[in-house]
Amino acid sequence: MRSGLVQELVFEVAEKKTSTLSGRVLILNQSYEPLSVCNVQKAVILLFLQKAELVAERPHRSIRTVSETYPFPSVIRLSHYKRVPFKRIMLSRKNILRRDGHRCQYCGATAPPLTVDHVIPKARGGQDSWENLVTACLSCNNRKRDNTIERAGMMLRSVPRRPSHVSLLVHSVHHVDDNWKPYLFIA
Ligand SMILES: [Zn+2]
Repeated sequence: MRSGLVQELVFEVAEKKTSTLSGRVLILNQSYEPLSVCNVQKAVILLFLQKAELVAERPHRSIRTVSETYPFPSVIRLSHYKRVPFKRIMLSRKNILRRDGHRCQYCGATAPPLTVDHVIPKARGGQDSWENLVTACLSCNNRKRDNTIERAGMMLRSVPRRPSHVSLLVHSVHHVDDNWKPYLFIA
């Protein structure tokens, strides 16, 4: 690789308007497990330093320097396995909303105000847990009150589970590239 290339590229990337280099890139560990999400600039630098390899590119987009054109990254994979210390995700209102994509888990509404509902009500022994807390719009929360979903005649759109760090990250990204889906186990 030409020695000045990284500098040239970093310079070019820095010079580009964010509109042309906007987008998120999924970083896979060497084991192909999803690790995190980064911006295009960071991905390009990792690729050119050969700390990562390109797994999937965005169609119809490219990165141009003065002299060359490069694929626009969508998924990259680290060259070396990165050990990830186990970090417990805090059970919080904010993280419940993020996990659920800021969407009422009963009717699908996204309009605020959104609340957090106990699937099995506290009054019936329901716990504060990932499996028992879901995002609910105000009207669904009022409709359900201290009933179980069966008694309220309601249904959950998905089974609430403990999220992974990557799934929380992905939910904070507005557009998930189709290229990511095989690695994220989402349909
Ligand atoms: Zn609702």
